Amino acid sequence: MVTNTIRQVVIVGGGSAGWLTAAVLASRYQGLEQGGLRITLIESPDVAPIGVGEGTWPTMRDTLREAGVSETAFFRSCDAAFKQGSRFNRWVTGGADDYYFHPFVLPQGYGEADIARHWQKHHGGVPFADMVSYQPHLCVAGRAPKQLSTPEFAAVANYGYHLDAGKFGAFLRTHCLEKLGVHYVPDHVTGIRSHDNGDIAALHTKTHGDLEGDLFVDCTGMQSMLLGKHYGIPFLPQRGVLFNDSALAVQVPYAHENDPIASQTTSTAQSAGWIWDIGLPTRRGVGHVYSSAHISDEQAERELRAYLKQSGAGEDIPTPRKLSFEPGYRAKFWHRNCVAIGLSSGFIEPLEASALAMVELSAAMLADEMPVTRPQMEAAAARFNETFTYRWERVIDFLKLHYVLSRRDDSDYWRDNRRPETIPERLQKLLLLWRHRPPSRYDINRIQEVFPAASYQYVLYGMGFRHEAGPALRHEDGALADGFLRDAANLTRRMLPALPDNRALIDHICRHGLQQR
Ligand SMILES: Cc1cc2nc3c(=O)[nH]c(=O)nc-3n(C[C@H](O)[C@H](O)[C@H](O)COP(=O)(O)OP(=O)(O)OC[C@H]3O[C@@H](n4cnc5c(N)ncnc54)[C@H](O)[C@@H]3O)c2cc1C
Repeated sequence: MVTNTIRQVVIVGGGSAGWLTAAVLASRYQGLEQGGLRITLIESPDVAPIGVGEGTWPTMRDTLREAGVSETAFFRSCDAAFKQGSRFNRWVTGGADDYYFHPFVLPQGYGEADIARHWQKHHGGVPFADMVSYQPHLCVAGRAPKQLSTPEFAAVANYGYHLDAGKFGAFLRTHCLEKLGVHYVPDHVTGIRSHDNGDIAALHTKTHGDLEGDLFVDCTGMQSMLLGKHYGIPFLPQRGVLFNDSALAVQVPYAHENDPIASQTTSTAQSAGWIWDIGLPTRRGVGHVYSSAHISDEQAERELRAYLKQSGAGEDIPTPRKLSFEPGYRAKFWHRNCVAIGLSSGFIEPLEASALAMVELSAAMLADEMPVTRPQMEAAAARFNETFTYRWERVIDFLKLHYVLSRRDDSDYWRDNRRPETIPERLQKLLLLWRHRPPSRYDINRIQEVFPAASYQYVLYGMGFRHEAGPALRHEDGALADGFLRDAANLTRRMLPALPDNRALIDHICRHGLQQR
C-alpha cells in the first residue's frame, strides 16, 4: 500500500550531497516521534564518495548556520579556508599578464546606477572588477574577509569556503548523527522493491534487510542508482556545449608551512582546459579539467606538472588521480517518490564551483516544498523539475560565456568553443542584446537565480567584452555612478589595513575560535 502521509525520508548516499541534504532536512523538521519526519541515510561502505569538490559559494554559510553548525568547529574539522571569488588567468589572450577576478561582492552601487556603462566610458582601461569592488584588492593583498572580532558566519567582505571534501563529509555525518537525530545505516543498497503504482516502497540492503520509506532521495553520485538506473530518466548530455569530460586531481604541500593561503580559487587556462588551484591551511588542491577529445591524458598531465613546478610545488608530485565524467543533467530530477540531488542529478565541469550550490538549492527547495501527502507530490515534483531544468540551463549558459569570449587561438579547443553551433541559443541572443547594454535583471530575472546579472558583468568585462555606443545617458546618472566608484576606492583604502592576513585569521580561528553571534 502506498502510504498517504509522508513520514519517512530515506537518503541513499553519504557524499557531500547526501549529508548536506540530511542536515538541511533534519534541521528543518522535528523527528518522527514529535510529529515530524524520520530522516534515514544509507551509505555504502563499499563505494567511496568522489572526494573532490573543495570550493563553495557564500550560500554555504547560511546552509551551515541554519543546520546549527558551529563555524569554528567547521574550520577546525574540515581544513577550511576562506574563498572570496575566482581569479581567471590566461583566459582572454593566453598571455602571462592576462587575468581577471570574479569576486563574490556585488559591484558597488549595483542596481542603483549604470556603473558598467559609466566604467566603460570613463575608466575602461582599468579592469572592471578592480574598479567596482574592493574584493580583488583584498585577494591580491592576501587579506581575510573578516576581522578577528567578526562573529561566526558574519562577513566584512562576502565569502564562501575552500575545504577538504573528505573531512567535510565526515564532519557533516557527526553533526547529523550527534545533533540532528539522523538515522544512519552503513550498508550497500542491492535492489529496489516497488509499489504497484511504480513508487519505490523499500530498498534491499546487504545486511539490514529492506528499508521502507515514503520519499527517497538519490544521492548515489554519478551512477544515479534510483533516478537514472531504476527509473531510466534520460540523461541530457552537454558535451556539445561544454567539452570538458576529464580531470586529473592532486594534493600538494606548501613549500613552507606558513606560505600565504590564497583566498580565491585560481583557474589558469591551458591548451584544452584549465587548472584549478585551491589553497587549504595544510595543502593545496590542484587539478586539470580538460576535454579528452582535444588532448590526451599524458599531455594533460604534462601541463599539470608544468603548472605545479612553475607555481612552486617542487618536483616530488604524487601521481594525479584521474576522474572522468559525462557533462550533462537528467531530463527531470524528481520522479514519483524519488528526488535526485548531487552528482546523481547531473554534473558539469567545476569552473564556477556550482555543484555544491546546486545541492544546497535542491535540499532547500525540498525542505521548503516537502509534500505532506502523496497526492501533493506530483505538484511539488513538477515545480522542482521546472526550477532545476531552468537552473541547469543557466549554469551552462554562464560557464559557456567564459569560453565564447576568449580570444585564444592556440588550439582547436579554444576555436571550437567559439563555433556558433556550440553556443546555446539563449546565450547567443543575450550576447546580441549586450552589444549595446550591460547584463541586467531583465535578462536574469528570477528571484533565486544561480548567477545574478552582476556575475555576468564580471565575466563579460573581465573577458574583454566592450559595448558598442548606444544612446547617451543623462549626465546625472554618470555623477551617481562616479560616486559609487569613489566609494569602492575608499572602501579598498579603509579595508586593506583593517583586515588581517588570511592565514593569520584561520590560525586564530583554529586556536581561539570565532565569537558566537
Ligand atoms: C573534478 C571535480 C571537481 C569538483 N570541484 C567542485 C568544486 O570545486 N565545487 C563544487 O561545488 N563541486 C565540485 N565538484 C562536484 C562535487 O564533488 C560533488 O557535487 C559533491 O562532492 C557531491 O557528490 P555526491 O555526494 O553527489 O556523490 P559522491 O561523493 O559520489 O557520493 C555518492 C555516495 O553514494 C553512496 N552509494 C553509491 N552506491 C550506493 C549503494 N548501492 N548503496 C548505498 N550507498 C551507495 C556512496 O557510498 C557515496 O557515499 C567537483 C567534481 C569533480 C568531478
